[in-house]
Formats: sequence, C-alpha cells, structure tokens
Amino acid sequence: MTTETPKDKASVGPSKPVGAAESSEPSLKDRGNLFEIAMRQVDKAADHVKLDAQIRQILAQPKNELIINFPVRMDDGAYIMFKGYRVQHNNLFGPYKGGMRYHHEANLDEMKALASWMTYKSALHEIPFGGGKGGVKVDPGKLSRSELERVTRRFTHALGNNIGPDWDIPAPDVGTNEQTMVWMMDTYMNVVGQNDKHSMRGVVTGKSVTSGGSYGRREATGQGVVHCVTEWASDHGFNLDGCHVIIQGFGNVGSYAARLLSQKGAVIVGVGDVGGYIANPEGINPHKLSEHVAKTRTVAGYRGASKIGREEFFGLEADIFVPAALELELGLKEAKALRVKMVAEGANGPTFPEAEEHLLAKGVSVIPDILCNSGGVIVSYYEWLQNKRSERWDHNEVLNRLERRMKQTYAQVRQYVATHHVDWRTASYALGLERLQVAYRERGIFP
Ligand code: NAD
Repeated sequence: MTTETPKDKASVGPSKPVGAAESSEPSLKDRGNLFEIAMRQVDKAADHVKLDAQIRQILAQPKNELIINFPVRMDDGAYIMFKGYRVQHNNLFGPYKGGMRYHHEANLDEMKALASWMTYKSALHEIPFGGGKGGVKVDPGKLSRSELERVTRRFTHALGNNIGPDWDIPAPDVGTNEQTMVWMMDTYMNVVGQNDKHSMRGVVTGKSVTSGGSYGRREATGQGVVHCVTEWASDHGFNLDGCHVIIQGFGNVGSYAARLLSQKGAVIVGVGDVGGYIANPEGINPHKLSEHVAKTRTVAGYRGASKIGREEFFGLEADIFVPAALELELGLKEAKALRVKMVAEGANGPTFPEAEEHLLAKGVSVIPDILCNSGGVIVSYYEWLQNKRSERWDHNEVLNRLERRMKQTYAQVRQYVATHHVDWRTASYALGLERLQVAYRERGIFP
C-alpha cells in the first residue's frame, strides 16, 4: 500500500500518535459533530414517515461501540499504542456490515455516523446486512508495509469474536484496501481453529480475488456512482458524452468513477485530493492520472493538468461534481461556488445540510450517498454469498447483478420522490426507515 522513506520513518515516535496533527486538511473539529449531522438527516426522513418513537429511540444510538488500545512494534523496535474502533449500529436485517478506515483523525463520532449510514444503505437496497464501521487512528502513509501488517493483524486479533462472517463483516474504506482485508481475513482464520478455517473467508469483503474476493468489487463503488449518474442523465435528457466532470478524491471510489465516466464520453476537467487540486479544460486522462497517483500517492504534480487552489476547483465550469474524498467537504461556501447541474455523492456524508439546501434551491440535483455509493456494499454482499456457497461468479455476472440492483433502487427512490414531493436524500432514508419500521413492528423487542 505504501512505501516508506527515511524521513517518514523519523516522524514516527513513541511519544506521539502516528500521523497526528501533520495534515493540512481541515480538522474534523471544524466540521461539526458528524453523528449529529447524520441524525439530522435521519430525523427529517423519520418525521416524514412518522417513525414510531420507540424505533427512533433504538436507531438513535449504535448497539455496540468498541474502542481498543493496542501496542504495535515498529520497524525500529519502538512500541506504539494505537486506538482502534468498531461501532455496530444495527443488525435487524443481518450481520453488521461496514468499512474499516485508517485515518489520523478517526474518532468515535465519525464511526457512529458512518455505521448508521450503513444500516440505512443496506435497508434501502434490501441487502440482508446491518450497519457497522470501524478503523484505526493512524496515517497509513506514515507506516511501512510491515508495520501496517502488524497494526492490522494485532487490531484484528484484539477484535476477536466481535467480528465474524455471520456477526460483523468489515470491508475496505479510506486508507485501507484489498491487502488490508486479506491480512484481516488471514488473522481471523488462524485463530478460529483448523476445522472451521475455510468457512471463515466471508469474515471480510473487498478481499483480493485470489484470496476469495469477488470480481467487480474493486470498481463496484465507482461503478454504482456511474449507474446513478447515467440514470439521472436519462431522466433529465442530459447527454453525458462531452459533459464536464469534477471529482474530489482520487482513491478507490474517485478513480474508478473517473475512468468509468470517461468511458461514457464525459470529460474530467478537475480533480483534487489531499495533496492538492488540478484542472485542465481539455480533459484529464483518468488512466494516466491513476498511474501518476500509484507512483506519488497524490494527483498533485500530474503533468497533464495545471495546479489550482481548492476554491478555484469548486468554481470550475462543469456539469457534474463527484465528491469521493471525506465527509463534510461540501459546505455552504463550496455549494455557492459550484456551477454544476448535479452532485453524485461517492463519499459518505460529504455535504453539510445547509449546503444541500442551497444546492436544491438553485436547482442542482443531489444523489445522496446511501443511494449513490452503495455499489460497494452490494458487491460485498455478492462476495459474501460466493464465499458462503463456495462459488465464483464471473465478472459480467457480478456487474450485471450490480447494474440491475442499482437501477431498481434508483427507480424506487425516483418513484418515492414523485409521490411524496421530498428531496432524494429524504426519500432514500424514508424507504430504508419504512422497511426497518415494518420489521420492528412485526418482531418487537426481546424479551
Ligand atoms: P481512498 O483512501 O481510496 O481514497 C480517499 C481519497 O480522498 C484520496 O484520493 C485522498 O487523497 C482523498 N482525500 C482525503 N482527504 C482529503 C481532503 N481533506 N481533501 C481532498 N481529498 C482528500 O478511499 P475510498 O475508498 O475511495 O473512499 C472515499 C469515500 O468513499 C469515503 O467517504 C468512503 O467512506 C466512501 N466509500 C467508499 C467505499 C469503498 O468501497 N471503498 C464504498 C462506499 C463509500
């Protein structure tokens, strides 16, 4: 995942959390409490569907919040304490499900928000999963590969039976990837005992294909974003061929969204990531940019575009904006600057509620995260099914199933918006909440 330079190594010391306070990113403190913002979104939809007070109470908090402090031996022999999280929001419909994030600003409120979004995302798409999220407070770019492996294995071991293929199933998120998932799977498998070992592959999804992952999982989230954009374009009589797109975040989600949108003729005119922002009105080749990012870990310095500032990026002349970085990057200031016709939320929770109100008031469509970026969890579900059945589905089968599922849910949300005259985010939450409400009413609570 990362290469280490002697300078990187020197910044790792036992007295300081790895990667703390060394980023130019806006601090999460400046962004508000993410879980409160998530609750505001849910409350709006809950009011709309007249959610029972008891069910609202249950969903207002995660079921379990786990914080683990664990030591890891660094390459130079020093021991460093890391903080790991796993939040399990709800498992009414199936095992807790959600990503593992490695980020130096990871915190409990962020995990609670992200875990709750997974509950509503799974319920919206009728996937038999609940919602969870976790990760480690670490800047993975500051660790060597072997240090990352030890962090991951030690964290997984410490999680113990708090994860499991029928209990809680992690997946990649910001700062983690297929390799991280393979280390998690291998660690988990090796502690459950020889006889059960191979039935445990489904403990994580987003693994490499060789180690039991699914074809199509790598590009699934970006592909899902593109299905939403395509559906939106056909609803609005909008031609994607030649349209202009700007993308914030060029990791798994952003880079695949860029490549797949460019296959439809869209022109990527601006891209930004943690290292900086670039633009080219003639178009940026997403394949060449991916090669550059693979070498340098940032879009900054890419020769086929000019360097621009963050403010300039949001004001670029474009039709579509794909946020695919972190949450709460799109505030009122950015919303006022944006000149696009639609925002397709690849990231989780990228938009402040005030920014969304402003965008909707000026006629910009916003396709919300729990609809737009759900390609990942949908194919994770297919991966889990293949692991359970010891099957291997071919690439086209996975992609066809994903396309059908995305289009089907998109159509349900479109129908809900038309019938109830609400925005797309409220409609998406409302559909999920209504399903949760029906199940809670049928089942009640134990005892
Ligand atoms: P990633 O680690 O592969 O990439 C993250 C990207 O965001 C990088 O390009 C990074 O430089 C950029 N970034 C980070 N901080 C930034 C900042 N302050 N300003 C600008 N850019 C910044 O992560 P990913 O898996 O692509 O996830 C991106 C988003 O999509 C997250 O919100 C994640 O929760 C969400 N998501 C991911 C998946 C998935 O399958 N990976 C599924 C659903 C949602």
